[in-house]
Amino acid sequence: MSTPATSTMNYLSERINQMQESATIKMAKMSRELKAQGKDIIDLSLGEPDFDTPQHIKDAAKEAIDKGYTKYTPVPGYPELRKAIAQKFKRDNNLDYSIEQIVVSTGAKQSIANVVMSLINPGDEVLLPAPYWVSYAAIAELAEGKCIEIPSTIDTNFKVTPDQLEKHITPKTKLIIFSSPCNPTGSVYSKTELSGIADVLKRHPNVFVLCDEIYEYINFTGEKHTSLAEFSDIKEQVITVNGFSKGFAMTGWRLGYIGAPLAIAKACDKMQGQITSGTCSIAQKAGEAALLTDITPSLKMVEQFKKRRDLVYALLKDIPGLKVNLPDGAFYFFFDVSSYFGKSYNGKTLNTPEDISLYLLSEGNIALVSGESFGDKTCLRMSYATSEEKLTEACKRMKAALAQLL
Ligand code: PMP
Ligand code: GLU
Repeated sequence: MSTPATSTMNYLSERINQMQESATIKMAKMSRELKAQGKDIIDLSLGEPDFDTPQHIKDAAKEAIDKGYTKYTPVPGYPELRKAIAQKFKRDNNLDYSIEQIVVSTGAKQSIANVVMSLINPGDEVLLPAPYWVSYAAIAELAEGKCIEIPSTIDTNFKVTPDQLEKHITPKTKLIIFSSPCNPTGSVYSKTELSGIADVLKRHPNVFVLCDEIYEYINFTGEKHTSLAEFSDIKEQVITVNGFSKGFAMTGWRLGYIGAPLAIAKACDKMQGQITSGTCSIAQKAGEAALLTDITPSLKMVEQFKKRRDLVYALLKDIPGLKVNLPDGAFYFFFDVSSYFGKSYNGKTLNTPEDISLYLLSEGNIALVSGESFGDKTCLRMSYATSEEKLTEACKRMKAALAQLL
């Protein structure tokens, strides 16, 4: 007789059996379990601001409940929220999107899934400048797209060049999934670099680009954020994705959105009309308040992130054998640990970032995410969206644990 586990695998779909579990969520789950067992884990795995949602946003949600915003909303979102998003696109990005071009979803994650499901046919090539956020590949594979990585390393601050991009485009390329500021690397493309990417896309009008701008506000370069859709020659090829999770510390509210060419927005509306009927009414009213009121609380969080980045950079540079760069945005470090490959602990040799991350979890009590699921074979990702005390202690633990490897 088969074991329960095997028989489960037999009746579940190929689609779900083939899917990788999200590495970020898996690591966060593992560290929650260890904490529940009483272990003193410092969890730097999940990319989630530690700040609370600003009070005026919470108040807007309470008011929404009292005013009866408790029914199904229009599938792509309340018109007043979509109007606020259109104003935000104009105010922050100099982009003109009509409200029909805007679709609000249950987190930017669902926005991305809607777009990919709406564009990708089996066998279409999806280009992923690597390292990339874990869910891009999983979602593209769910749509039976073929993921093609465009590699980059820490030596080029994990950025791909226009030339590299051009070389990876084939007649089968349908979509590029791009993020700046980038998760997991924190890299930010300058306007000049983006202009080079836009020039390539202009030569390939059948290729779309999903431009994930969820970390837009968390940018320390001093240069104003540039959206790829601002390059007017390629605007009809770009789907701009954004959300509230990072810039407004609203991860649990599950609110994201796109600005897109009309046909793509309509397709995403149709898709979620069958899958979710649109996102939570109360979260939508909160999102409207976030966009229409002063964004000072967001800017204050960004100042804190910058301070923490500078602190962690100094601490990581002090650990022998790590190769670290200074990330310009988001709230992650993505550092190279390959000098520790081949070293051992208790007779076990560590050969991959995953081996090192599991070692650091069990021996150092720190949770980081290994590079493999971001399309990288040498690095670990650290989220620094936590207090300076915890970050200092985590780096101390990491230094001590790595020093024990022989
Ligand atoms: N894109 C990137 C690059 C992210 O890091 C995240 C983090 N969750 C998302 C999209 C999805 O955000 P959410 O679904 O919370 O809006
Ligand atoms: N985006 C965050 C991360 O990369 C949250 C977890 C997730 O949705 O993957 O950690």
